[in-house]
Amino acid sequence: MNTTENNTSEEKRSLSFVEQLVEEDLAEGKNGRKIQTRFPPEPNGYLHIGHAKAICMDFGVAEHYDGVCNLRFDDTNPSKENTEYVENILHDISWLGFKWGNIYYASDYFEKLWDFAVWMIKKGYAYVDEQTAEEIATQKGTPTEAGKPSPYRERPAEESLALFEKMNTPEAEEGSMVLRAKLDMANPNMHFRDPIMYRIIHTPHHRTGTKWNCYPMYDFAHGQSDYFEGVTHSICTLEFVPHRPLYDKFVDFLKEYDGTADNLHDNRPRQIEFNRLNLTYTVMSKRKLHTLVDEHFVSGWDDPRMPTLSGMRRRGYSPESIRNFIDSIGYTKFDALNDVALLEAAVRDDLNKKATRVSAVLDPVKLVITNYPDGQTEEMEAINNPENEADGTHAITFSKNLWIERADFMEDAPKKFFRMSPGKEVRLKNAYIVKCTGCTKDADGNITEIQAEYDPDSKSGMSGANRKVKGTLHWVSAGHCLKAEVREYDRLFSVENPSADERDFRELLNPDSLTVRTDCYVEDYLAEKKPGDYLQFQRTGYFMLDPDSKDDRLIFNKTVGLKDTWAKEKAKG
Ligand code: ATP
Ligand code: MG
Repeated sequence: MNTTENNTSEEKRSLSFVEQLVEEDLAEGKNGRKIQTRFPPEPNGYLHIGHAKAICMDFGVAEHYDGVCNLRFDDTNPSKENTEYVENILHDISWLGFKWGNIYYASDYFEKLWDFAVWMIKKGYAYVDEQTAEEIATQKGTPTEAGKPSPYRERPAEESLALFEKMNTPEAEEGSMVLRAKLDMANPNMHFRDPIMYRIIHTPHHRTGTKWNCYPMYDFAHGQSDYFEGVTHSICTLEFVPHRPLYDKFVDFLKEYDGTADNLHDNRPRQIEFNRLNLTYTVMSKRKLHTLVDEHFVSGWDDPRMPTLSGMRRRGYSPESIRNFIDSIGYTKFDALNDVALLEAAVRDDLNKKATRVSAVLDPVKLVITNYPDGQTEEMEAINNPENEADGTHAITFSKNLWIERADFMEDAPKKFFRMSPGKEVRLKNAYIVKCTGCTKDADGNITEIQAEYDPDSKSGMSGANRKVKGTLHWVSAGHCLKAEVREYDRLFSVENPSADERDFRELLNPDSLTVRTDCYVEDYLAEKKPGDYLQFQRTGYFMLDPDSKDDRLIFNKTVGLKDTWAKEKAKG
């Protein structure tokens, strides 16, 4: 598709409800018609395709309205975060094709947040609670029943101030006290019942080291960070809907704190929520993904079966296919489970345009062209991509001894079998028409070799080569190929929605999610390929070289088959 067409389809695409809200704000002239968004990952794991949905929204809105999208690492919990995650997140976002304005860290605001918290204590808006987490939980009440105030709720500000200072010392015991906002213990919104603002954590922070001993909670850091940065639209997922009143409340406090309270509407980030992406046959919770990695159910965060962007990249998914998929499912206010088959269809669609067509035999059996001269070879021209002439051609060597797929031969074939079988003609792709003359078997009846004769006048591209034969088979020359390992993947889980299942999610893993074939042959042209090059093994599927490959041992990941056979297979049981 060229750019003009792209633009037209962009214009035609109807606006998402988020974009409609943004346009209302623009029409009202809010924030001086500035648009600023942010993507706020917590660096406690790798990004998955759900994050890609948020990224497409956050960066998409900024791009669409000539605004800016910044990255902000929400690094307020040092016990789970590290710089390895930060680096991978940056890489994944770039790979998806987005450019951020600035990179910020919530930890950049620790000082500011601290000062603001001190102000809140002095104003009587916050207090230090010395109860245990359990005690606090039992006083929370229920949505229909008011909570009980903490016995520390009315303590003097000076006392809270001194204790808050103490919370930030190495001597303070984790869990011994928290700072809470003094809001409304009877509010039907549970987040208003004196939410925790700060807790004690002694794990060193990946950026600030041991400078801090207590850290702000998500609710006391997120909206404030948005406000400090000048975010106009803070777009997030639906689980934050009940947090929104608190988000707004803390912004009110901030505006009182910085003296802009008389214009409550100025420079005010607006939180908008959309539905999370959930995919069939996988899990998206970081905690569960961590377990899969830590307990070695997968080879790592970038295992090609993982729903992570690094896993999908390694498997051979293109960033465009992921973006197209996300575009196709859209953004709504209702959580749903999306069919992974839709994602795979988007991958096929995009790779069909991009992939270089090559020959690879995954389950090889020898084919000897008995009337082809010993030692002779020919360079045949193979078209790299019939969808894109500019991709050119490459040479594939033909010779007397070839490998073909075992499944492409049948000794007693039914009428409709248009592949190789004694007495029948087939075309060898990019080469000649051959007629099968027989096969050799071992003592157990296994076929060890197939014989055929070629027609020298039937070379592909020659005039007169157009005799109709029904089947075209791929092959590689036994003396001009490379041995390869091929890793084929099935669904990681054997149930459609593992997150909705009561059993432990480990028990729901598909035991056959990985199949390794070690005796495959690929044409020697593939020696030049690298991870990141999109390949189609003709008649088989899309593949990508794996970084585990060595020069003498190529390893390929199957990205996806050419057709969706999975639903059919499943129906068969
Ligand atoms: P956790 O599982 O630890 O709660 P998270 O998946 O929410 O983490 P964050 O790093 O906090 O991960 O997420 C960054 C942003 O990505 C948030 O704005 C969040 O709303 C969004 N996001 C996370 N998961 C999804 C998802 N499945 N679909 C859409 N957006 C998501
Ligand atoms: Mg989160």
